[in-house]
Amino acid sequence: MDFKDSIRVIPDFPKEGISFKDITTLLKDGDAYRQAIDALKALVSHLEIDVIAGPEARGFVVGAPLAYALGVGFVPIRKSGKLPYETIEVGYDLEYGKDTLAVHTDAIKPGQNVLIADDLLATGGTIATSVNLVEQLGGKVVGAAFLIELVELAGRNKLSGIEVITLVDYE
Ligand code: IMP
Repeated sequence: MDFKDSIRVIPDFPKEGISFKDITTLLKDGDAYRQAIDALKALVSHLEIDVIAGPEARGFVVGAPLAYALGVGFVPIRKSGKLPYETIEVGYDLEYGKDTLAVHTDAIKPGQNVLIADDLLATGGTIATSVNLVEQLGGKVVGAAFLIELVELAGRNKLSGIEVITLVDYE
């Protein structure tokens, strides 16, 4: 299956010059969504994974079904102020803006193998911040899995030493 057929590209959203990859068209197609998650599952099958962590909101849409398929737990990484228990937080720059991500202090046990999942790798800021949070809790990041990689933004350079797994590349 060519997953690009299921991804809609919107020019100049949310700002002029940005070519937004809209995965809602893939998500609403049950067959494409299941095949995408199954394909990611196959691509991470060589990794030892104890838990998957994903940043809100689209990291949940990829990470949670992947965790279910693998039979491992899921840890939500959220914007500041959303999680109810004690958290650690890290600020970061986005492709278009700034934000802070947080995770519960007891979400990951020291030594656990963690796969990080999101819909899309752009500049890598979101995932580098997620890696930072997981590592602060003592987790070992064994890989980072995405539906989409925007190759020219070179986000994988921020993830040196971490295996990057993607289904679909855009230049
Ligand atoms: P990064 O931090 O620059 O790698 O940006 C990745 C984050 O921004 C992901 O969580 C995406 O959901 C979001 N994002 C950036 N560009 C796009 C896009 O073209 N389509 C969908 N999401 C995007």
